[in-house]
Formats: sequence, C-alpha cells, structure tokens
Amino acid sequence: MRERGWVCVGVVVCVGVGTLSVGAVWHLCRVELNRVVVVGASLAGLRAAETLRSEGFGGEVIVVGAEQHRPYDRPPLSKKLLAGDWEPDRIQLRQPDSFDELDVEWRFGIAAAGLDADEQILHLTDGTDLAFDGCIIATGASCRRLADQSRFAHVHEVRTLDDSMRLRAEIAGGDQHVVVIGAGFIGLEVAATAKQLGNRVTVLEGASAPLIRGLGAEMGAAIGIAHEANGVDIRCDVHVDRLDDHGAMLQGGELIEADVVVVGIGVVPATAWLDDSGLEVRDGVVCDETLNARRLDGSVRPGVYAAGDVLRWPNQLFDEEMRVEHWTNAAEQGAAAAKNLLASASGGAPEPYASVPFFWSDQFDLRIQFVGRSGPDDEAVVVAGSVDDGKFLTLYRNGDRFRGALGVRAPRWVMPMRQLLAEQASWEEALAKAATFET
Ligand SMILES: Cc1cc2nc3c(=O)[nH]c(=O)nc-3n(C[C@H](O)[C@H](O)[C@H](O)COP(=O)(O)OP(=O)(O)OC[C@H]3O[C@@H](n4cnc5c(N)ncnc54)[C@H](O)[C@@H]3O)c2cc1C
Repeated sequence: MRERGWVCVGVVVCVGVGTLSVGAVWHLCRVELNRVVVVGASLAGLRAAETLRSEGFGGEVIVVGAEQHRPYDRPPLSKKLLAGDWEPDRIQLRQPDSFDELDVEWRFGIAAAGLDADEQILHLTDGTDLAFDGCIIATGASCRRLADQSRFAHVHEVRTLDDSMRLRAEIAGGDQHVVVIGAGFIGLEVAATAKQLGNRVTVLEGASAPLIRGLGAEMGAAIGIAHEANGVDIRCDVHVDRLDDHGAMLQGGELIEADVVVVGIGVVPATAWLDDSGLEVRDGVVCDETLNARRLDGSVRPGVYAAGDVLRWPNQLFDEEMRVEHWTNAAEQGAAAAKNLLASASGGAPEPYASVPFFWSDQFDLRIQFVGRSGPDDEAVVVAGSVDDGKFLTLYRNGDRFRGALGVRAPRWVMPMRQLLAEQASWEEALAKAATFET
C-alpha cells in the first residue's frame, strides 16, 4: 500500500480594496507518499521504520544513521555493558533477520548534513541528496562537552557503544581513580558501575545535591546518600573550571587528580544539520501536538515529523511544551510519528501524542523509576515505605496538581501512578491510591 491523500495548505489571500474582505482560501494538494526517509538509526528511528511497515506502507523506506552500528540499546551503555556483564551483541535492538524482513534500506555511517524542508531534499555527508515525500527526524542527542574535552585521552563521555567500550577498557581493572563530572542519571550510573568494578570514584556536582533536575533536592540527596554508603565520594557545590592532564581543576584552584574523567553534564539535541532547513529549532525540533514539525513562521510542514530525544512538542497531559530524554518516550514517539505521517498523507486525522513520561535508572542495587514531571517548585512527599528502609514511593505536587511519582525498589507502586497521571487525577486521588499500598 502506498499512501495517497490530500493535505490542506493554507493560503491567506489579503485583498484590502473596497468592500472585499480579507479571506482564507484552502487549496487541496494531492500528496503521494512514495519515499519516506528516517534520519537517525536508533530507537526512535527503528520504531518509526517498523511502524511504517506494520501499518502497511509499501513505498520506499530509507533510514540514514551517522553511526556504523545497527540500532542498539543505550541504557546498558552505563550499566551491564560498561560493567562487562554483557557484550555488544546482547544490546542489539533487533536480530539481523528482522532487519532483512523489514525491507528497509539502511544507510549506516552516513549523516544528514542538511535538510531543505520545502523542496523535500535531504543532503548527506557523502555529498549525495535524497528526495523524499515524507521525513521522520530522529537524530536524538549528543553529549554536552567541556571546553577542550576532546584534547584529553583520559576524558570520556558515554553516549554511544564505542564510547562505552572505550571507557570499559579503562576501568575494567578496577584500580583507577575515576572522576565523574555531573551527578545526573548517567553520571551516577557510571559512578556506580565503576565503583562496583573496584575503582575509587569521585563525583563532582555543581548543584547542592545530585539529580536535582530530575528528582528535586531532597530526593536527589537521598540517592546521593546511597552512593556514599557504597563508597562513592560525592562532592556537591563544586564547579569545574577546566580539564587538566592530571584531572579536573576546580574554580578556586583545587586539582582533583584522576586517572579517568567522565563528563556527564547532560545532552544537547542533535539539530545542527537543520540550521538552514526552514524548520523551527529551539532546544529540539519544534513540533505540534501530533509531532508534525513547524516552520520558522509557526505553520506546520506537512510530511515532516520528529520523534525521540530530538523532539520538542506540547504534551497536552501536562499543559507544557517539553523535550524528553527517555527510552519509553523515544520508542512510543517513533511509532506515533510514523502513524501520523501515514494518516496525514491518506487524508486521515493525525492523533495528538499525549503521554506520561517514564524512566528508570539502575544504580547499585537501587531500581529507580519516575513517572510524570517534577519542577523546582514542586513539593515531594514520601507516601509509602521510607527512605531509611531504601524502599519508598514519593509523590510530587504543585499546589493541588499531582505531577509525578518516584519509586525506589517499588515498581508495583509506581505503575498505578502513571495511570493516574494519564487520567489527570488530583492530588487527593493519588494520595488515596497510595494509601492502599501495603508496605
Ligand atoms: C548511557 C545512557 C543510558 C541511558 N539509560 C536510560 C535508562 O536507564 N532509562 C531510560 O529511560 N533512558 C535511558 N537513556 C536514554 C535513552 O537511551 C534515550 O532516550 C534514547 O536512546 C533516545 O532515542 P532516540 O532514537 O531518540 O535518539 P538516540 O538514541 O540518541 O539516537 C539518535 C541517532 O541518530 C544519529 N544521528 C545524529 N545526528 C545524525 C545525523 N545528522 N544524520 C544521521 N544520523 C544522525 C545518532 O548517531 C544516533 O545513532 C540512556 C541513554 C544513555 C546515553
């Protein structure tokens, strides 16, 4: 099945003469979807390609990926793969046979260098161009870096399989002093893994507690205490001035000596290639609620969708425009973007993507799960279990609004909260549900 359909293109005709009024004329243009290009061959891109096929699209699907590897899972890069418990073949997102069955043209090791959204042309780094009828942008994010970071052989980041294998080779012996810059989720996962391998580990964090951005100060501090109990030295309120051949130099002149430095200071969406695309890019590709990309003038660009870490969209469940950097979101949005592209081309109605963000993190023997959102003004209340016992559920509120839930070693308590958030339940309803949990 190839998708053919009609797409509305709004043309405002302004005739400001005599009694003629300003009007809007809608032209219907037939759109034939013969070739869809997916840019980014990771989780969101894979799910998009799979969904195009499972929804019956019979045209050409080309997936362009900057990495040499077939799509693989990133969460183990800071956990099981880094620890040496798993080998790279264990983290493949699909076995080789399923790739062939998909009937997709994979172009690995080639990046998109530019996009002309109106002319529907993708420029590639090998100098060739790809014309398309539909495009799904799934280029994810890359690590934020410190100045001169790439000059130092002992300084690492963890975003790709190659990054993780390089770091693994350095810390596998368990006799290094590993300094992690940044106490976010990935920094703390790397710290836990390095410590479990026997290394000495120091974490440097500029904020007053770990994980403040994700969990707030109080809950972040609770996770930090668990790290310290496992022998990780966490130093908060310290600012790295620059990297050094011997480690990291703090503002004020203290040198933290290190054999290995890991920079974990967040990510930036991979959008540099979209600079002259005509699309709106603002800390991510800006889309409407159906994941349809917007032009610089705010209008949507029919046929161009985005998904995953690279996407910024208005999530109607939270009345908030957001960009989410979690696995479940990338998987769900890849599928949603593909469905909506097909729906728009066949004259159907694309569906808004509204979802409760969910992520997990494994650190030492802690399984941390979070659903919803938390912000700097939210109040965090432990409602089941206790921090001291190491198993608890914390709910987040902003006024009367129930916004999120954190569970530590408490999966059975977290998932019902995702459902309540999807139903936009009140704070009282969330408390009543938590009161039914047996501790
Ligand atoms: C170390 C690590 C641990 C994580 N752990 C967890 C976890 O425990 N739980 C959780 O919920 N989430 C976790 N995540 C987050 C999760 O893996 C991401 O949200 C998910 O990978 C996003 O998928 P994506 O397809 O949107 O983007 P990505 O996975 O970033 O993939 C984007 C792909 O696009 C490619 N690309 C970039 N630019 C171009 C271009 N110009 N042309 C062509 N290709 C391009 C990139 O090379 C990359 O392969 C973790 C991430 C990392 C890095």
